[in-house]
Amino acid sequence: MQITVDTDKCCAAGQCVLAAPEVFDQRDEDGIVLVLNSSPPAEQHDAVREAAQICPAAAITLS
Ligand code: SF4
Repeated sequence: MQITVDTDKCCAAGQCVLAAPEVFDQRDEDGIVLVLNSSPPAEQHDAVREAAQICPAAAITLS
């Protein structure tokens, strides 16, 4: 799994951080998403898929 985020789309909602806190974080200054691990291990894939689904800006792409 490879994670790509479109920071131009991100509206700093933080849903991804709630769903997968080991993979996503938010910048202190503006809340825009940070990817901590763009190729997370298998046990985190379900949480990452959930994060991508619930992101209100559809800013997370998985491949
Ligand atoms: S859920 Fe989407 S919009 Fe919200 S911080 Fe994460 S990537 Fe950005």
